[in-house]
Amino acid sequence: LDNALDIQVKGLNVFYGPVHAVKGVNLTIEAGKITAIVGANGAGKTSTLKAIVGGVKSSGTVLLGDESINHLPVHERVRKGIVLCPEGRGIFYSLTVKENLLAGAYLNKKPDLDFVFDVFPFLKDRLNQIAGTLSGGEQQMLAIARALMANPRYLLLDEPSLGLAPIIIDKIVDVVKLINSRGITVVLVEQNTSVALSISHYGYVLENGRVALEGDAKQLLGSDLVREKYLGGV
Ligand code: ATP
Repeated sequence: LDNALDIQVKGLNVFYGPVHAVKGVNLTIEAGKITAIVGANGAGKTSTLKAIVGGVKSSGTVLLGDESINHLPVHERVRKGIVLCPEGRGIFYSLTVKENLLAGAYLNKKPDLDFVFDVFPFLKDRLNQIAGTLSGGEQQMLAIARALMANPRYLLLDEPSLGLAPIIIDKIVDVVKLINSRGITVVLVEQNTSVALSISHYGYVLENGRVALEGDAKQLLGSDLVREKYLGGV
């Protein structure tokens, strides 16, 4: 498997009945980097991620390197290393931590458990705990750990900081950096604009289903539009 392929999204459209959620979005997910997709509630961030993994009907093109992967179902994209960690975590609350982790590896006979425990050492002692009894932050970490069990080359994280206390968000930030430092390309969808842009290389701002602004993440953080509309004018 080639680790150096960019994912390119061209002219992406997503409709839910009459609702045009994503309107001709173009973006590049550069291999090896962290790419942020930020924007307000309902801007189309989640729909864009779902379209990249094949979880929602869309039109337009998704390229992995030169290869169009539009026609591939979700599991085939997972096999190519494109893995979504969904908003709301989507863990199995009544199952144990171990069962949740194994569920993440259903397509992968050789999950890298050492790596998963490297990133989340606390999980080692929690394997038999019912997932629903973990704290919110621990549940988010389990969700990411479960996604890692699929051995992603591209990890798409939908709102990993949602509802978490600042100290837990700091932990998630460290985890995202660690995962990326091991060669996994990360796409970070966040409403927490400052967190997302401060750890990303490149960023896209979505507004009403369109890319309103894109650029180097640090430059976006300093831009007037981002500061006024997304950082409360700080
Ligand atoms: P949030 O952060 O609130 O999830 P978002 O930027 O991720 O927002 P999307 O979830 O992609 O935005 O939603 C974009 C638009 O599509 C919204 O207007 C939303 O109401 C609509 N939408 C999303 N999913 C569906 C669905 N299954 N059926 C109908 N409309 C939907």
